[in-house]
Amino acid sequence: MSYEPVIGLEIHAQLLTRSKIFCGCSTAFGAPPNTHVCPVCLGLPGALPVLNRQAVDFAIRTGLALGCRIQSRSIFARKNYFYPDLPKGYQISQYELPVAVDGALEWTSDGQTRRVGITRVHMEEDAGKSLHEGFADAARRSYVDFNRSGVPLVEIVTEPDLRSAADAADFFERLRAILVRIGVNDGNMEEGSLRCDANVSVRPAGATTLGTKAEVKNLNSFRFLQKALEYEIARQTELLEEGGTVTQETRLWDAAAGVTVSMRSKEEAHDYRYFPEPDLPPLVIDDARVEATRAALPELPAAREARYVAEFGLPKTDAATLVLRMPGLDDYFEATAQASGNPREAANTVLGLVRARMNDEGIGSVDALRAKLPEARLAELIGLVTRGEISRPVAKDVFDRMFASGEPAAAIVAREGLAQIDDEAAITAVIARVLAEQEDAVAQYRGGRTATFGFLVGQVMRATGGKANPKRVNALLRQALEAES
Ligand code: ADP
Ligand code: ZN
Ligand code: MG
Repeated sequence: MSYEPVIGLEIHAQLLTRSKIFCGCSTAFGAPPNTHVCPVCLGLPGALPVLNRQAVDFAIRTGLALGCRIQSRSIFARKNYFYPDLPKGYQISQYELPVAVDGALEWTSDGQTRRVGITRVHMEEDAGKSLHEGFADAARRSYVDFNRSGVPLVEIVTEPDLRSAADAADFFERLRAILVRIGVNDGNMEEGSLRCDANVSVRPAGATTLGTKAEVKNLNSFRFLQKALEYEIARQTELLEEGGTVTQETRLWDAAAGVTVSMRSKEEAHDYRYFPEPDLPPLVIDDARVEATRAALPELPAAREARYVAEFGLPKTDAATLVLRMPGLDDYFEATAQASGNPREAANTVLGLVRARMNDEGIGSVDALRAKLPEARLAELIGLVTRGEISRPVAKDVFDRMFASGEPAAAIVAREGLAQIDDEAAITAVIARVLAEQEDAVAQYRGGRTATFGFLVGQVMRATGGKANPKRVNALLRQALEAES
């Protein structure tokens, strides 16, 4: 019997508001512990929450970008549980009436259309953070940092529509691109501002009912999401094949060991004793607000990807890579394309030289890239190539120097004497010299081994330090070889 995986994701995204969801404290990441706190987000008795309007706007935007219906009335609810990082003993969330419902995300991959239903988008507050490491007495004590307590989140819940680990990773990458594009989230999975829990079950192929699922937590990269799901699908399949049953539980991905491990039995909704939050009125959103938000949505990643193919003639995979792989890389590309007037060369340079350099130097964000190499600088280099002022091999050299020193490309070219040699007389002279040195290769060529032509081109290029215009070298070299034979 063969088994089919079934996957649904629950994604938590921190909203990019300046202040927290129910108080005025800053949401800035990385401040000293417990410096962005007040009676509200510390859960002190008597403190009352006031809803952040910007957080609501971001939640509406998220719902609309995912094709959801925005509910005109939604309710905040208390989700009760005990944990040291939750000072109130409950988290303010939404339960029965979330802000957005019934959306979907569609995309094509390998020529096949995928559709994943979005069950709901609801608003909630983040919890604080327990710290177990980095203290002299860490063996005996843990600490709690409440800076994150009360940071606004949306939770996005999908239908169990995904059928493979790779599709789940694809989906999450596309979702991230959307959240970053509409400006509600920074897409930073390492810092935990975007987090994903994966629910997964397997069932006999063709079955119509769902199998028992496990929920896997601690998936802070696309690769981990995919690996954890692959592991979990294999584990559950094996269990069923041996005649066993899957236990409903929460499991943790152990990245070092490459396995999921049981963490606790899965809690049920009734364990949380949800009830409407008495300190907040129902959230009422009128049509005008929804329509104004819809009208202000930017071009979404799928449309961008299609435009790069249609308008710039980029290959589909290049367009997808620019739009999906790293938050903001598409903006960087577009600015470079516009400033240089050569979108194809801009795409090739960003996907080639720029990405390789970022990997080598461990540059992890487009902001960090921009600080080293602003789009305008890169566009100048692309302009030199486009106008034939430097050759492509030289462009790589100039790029490396530019990246290291921050100097403009033209200044490097002038100082190092790297301008492309296009002068006929100069190239002809070099050819004559090379042909005189390469008697054997010339004889072979004239004897019919025309493959040696490439070798001779290479020798001429080398003799000019890669600076000769390759097209002109080709033409003049052929002339020279034909003429004297
Ligand atoms: P719970 O009651 O455990 O919270 P929900 O029905 O609320 O479960 O679903 C939570 C997430 O799990 C959703 O993303 C949903 O699509 C997914 N899910 C639900 N049942 C299954 C299943 N049997 N297999 C895989 N995913 C599932
Ligand atoms: Zn506060
Ligand atoms: Mg649920």
